[in-house]
Amino acid sequence: MQNFDILVIGAGPAGSAAACWAAKSGLRVGLLDKARFPRDKLCGGLFTGRSRTYYQEIFGRPFDPSCTVTRDAIEFWHDGVRLARLEDVPAFNLTMRKDLDNTLFEHACAAGATDLTGRAISGIDDTSVTLRDGTRFGARVIIGADGVNSITARHLFGKAFDTQTIGFGLEIEATPDEQNPAEHPLRIDFAAATWGYGWSFPKQGSTTVGVGGLRDPNPDLKARMSDYLDSLGLDPDQKRFKGHHLPFGDFRETPGRDNILLTGDAAGLVDPITGEGIAFAMKSGQLAAQAAIDALTDNAPSTALDRYKTSLREMHRSLRIARRLRRIIFAPRWQGAFTGTFRRSGTVRMMYMRLLAGEVEYPELALAVARRLPRYVLNRFRR
Ligand SMILES: Cc1cc2nc3c(=O)[nH]c(=O)nc-3n(C[C@H](O)[C@H](O)[C@H](O)COP(=O)(O)OP(=O)(O)OC[C@H]3O[C@@H](n4cnc5c(N)ncnc54)[C@H](O)[C@@H]3O)c2cc1C
Repeated sequence: MQNFDILVIGAGPAGSAAACWAAKSGLRVGLLDKARFPRDKLCGGLFTGRSRTYYQEIFGRPFDPSCTVTRDAIEFWHDGVRLARLEDVPAFNLTMRKDLDNTLFEHACAAGATDLTGRAISGIDDTSVTLRDGTRFGARVIIGADGVNSITARHLFGKAFDTQTIGFGLEIEATPDEQNPAEHPLRIDFAAATWGYGWSFPKQGSTTVGVGGLRDPNPDLKARMSDYLDSLGLDPDQKRFKGHHLPFGDFRETPGRDNILLTGDAAGLVDPITGEGIAFAMKSGQLAAQAAIDALTDNAPSTALDRYKTSLREMHRSLRIARRLRRIIFAPRWQGAFTGTFRRSGTVRMMYMRLLAGEVEYPELALAVARRLPRYVLNRFRR
């Protein structure tokens, strides 16, 4: 059995960040994934200012936007009505995950992580992982970065998430013949899904169009997606919708057990309002790796979880605030007040845009909302 200090399961943004950070410290790190890279992942691919900051911090180089589309204008719509178009906003980078994740994976391998990708896992115990072909790898710390259907979370807790309470997204790629990405803006549609939204994101060579929201209030998401495509002038019958779960604000208070840590989607670290997950995945990967490094330095692998939980406090606090705020944005009875305020108030529009761009943190946003709340409530009752 080959032994590692740290085994990372999953080589998406969380896993590659964890593996890169840990390998840079000189530890023996194995990076496992059932897929071979480059591989695709269903995602809008919006790479925010927050993502760019974490990328530089973790991978030790500035983000290279050359394989992304960069936009500095965005439109917000509600039920076929354009609420606002904002120009000269902070840059939005739109990536294809196949390219982005492959780059992150290559950085992790270049930092010294051992490439164990392309082989499926059949089982995990507290200090080893077994592959379908019977190979076993030992580890002192295991980092589960294996996404929303995490096999690591299932090993620890019996199941990854309750799929009825988390989110779900559907997407298609529109070809340039159907919608020329060069001619269309970045676009958000608030009414395209309940407790969620629709998006149209121009990329290099295609436009990613999708709808997503909490699963339970959207039993008809396929029909909502068809309507949304229709409203954009795209033919829903020409497309096969692809779907994926999204742990939309349903983070795990205890992300692991002793020497086994959960990161990214496996830990539910997704913004409950915007659905942003790449930045939180990379950051939690780094924090998990650092907790593992510190625990191994003290020769106490089982203390990794306590260290990791402490370092996650700020992110958890932010996601808790976001969960509360999302009621006044998404709850159907507040939608009228929200869109009315959004249309009238330049401050609210800028705040929302900065939120989407990953340029504002929730504690700051909560203060701004608290100042406006009395007028907001009044608007709701006037209606
Ligand atoms: C429709 C949709 C749109 C989204 N849009 C955006 C967006 O625009 N911007 C944004 O920031 N976020 C977005 N997100 C969220 C974002 O995609 C996730 O939060 C992010 O991918 C989480 O990264 P991760 O590394 O935790 O997991 P993942 O990216 O899911 O990576 C997990 C990896 O684990 C591997 N794996 C899984 N199971 C096993 C196993 N048993 N054995 C070995 N390997 C395994 C998988 O192959 C995969 O490579 C979107 C999500 C959805 C569903």
